[in-house]
Amino acid sequence: MLARFRIGDLNCTAVSDVEQGARNVLLIEAPGRRILIDTGAGSAHPGTPGLLVERLKAAGIEPWSIDSVILSHADFDHIGGAIEAGRPTFARAEHFILRAEVEFWRERPERLRPSPNYDEAFRNLVNSLPPTAIDALSDVLQAVEPGTEVAPGIALIAAPGHTPGNAVVRIVAGGDELLVAADLLYDPANIKDPDWVAIYDHDAVQVVKTRRAILRQASANQTLLMLYHLPFPGLGRVADDGAGWSWTPEALPPA
Ligand SMILES: [Zn+2]
Repeated sequence: MLARFRIGDLNCTAVSDVEQGARNVLLIEAPGRRILIDTGAGSAHPGTPGLLVERLKAAGIEPWSIDSVILSHADFDHIGGAIEAGRPTFARAEHFILRAEVEFWRERPERLRPSPNYDEAFRNLVNSLPPTAIDALSDVLQAVEPGTEVAPGIALIAAPGHTPGNAVVRIVAGGDELLVAADLLYDPANIKDPDWVAIYDHDAVQVVKTRRAILRQASANQTLLMLYHLPFPGLGRVADDGAGWSWTPEALPPA
């Protein structure tokens, strides 16, 4: 599943990494440069293997033709597709991630604690894939500070809470703006409740602060957002209705 749209003069393609549910990856084609934001789950998740590479190839885009990969954070469903058989999938690409995210995972944190809500195999995947992938990417991974521009108008902005080094990617081109907000919100039912947090949010206090700040700004400026786990392609705008926010999906012209 692909959806094409433009931000200024940038050709953007949203690619679904899954058949069911949502993992919305973004490909940006800037002049002479292909940039991918997040990489799906790859082959790591046996239940819902990542379809990103297959779908890019079907669209005529080979993995070696990707110049840059930006990782919003290192949870398995965002970084898993960056590694295949222990090697970088996008072999020629420089990979960018916030330094705080690399430092968080280097400590091998227990991201998910034991719980009757999921089995041990899933918990192991969530906890062990990210540091393993970060190690496997070490030759091509740049741990950068917030504000770093990967290309003109494309910058990683700190959005801590979901994970300590979570980033929102701001894309500004020709008067248009898109905030790729990844996992800032991941359940459409909860957008209206600004204090909602879930087990996947590492810091429940910080995540609410970050979410409020970004959503307040996005709603005031009517900024286009792209969210990773909202129904494909995950594009829409938020409006502040006083107590919370409402989400209006952005209708795209047929590709
Ligand atoms: Zn996610």
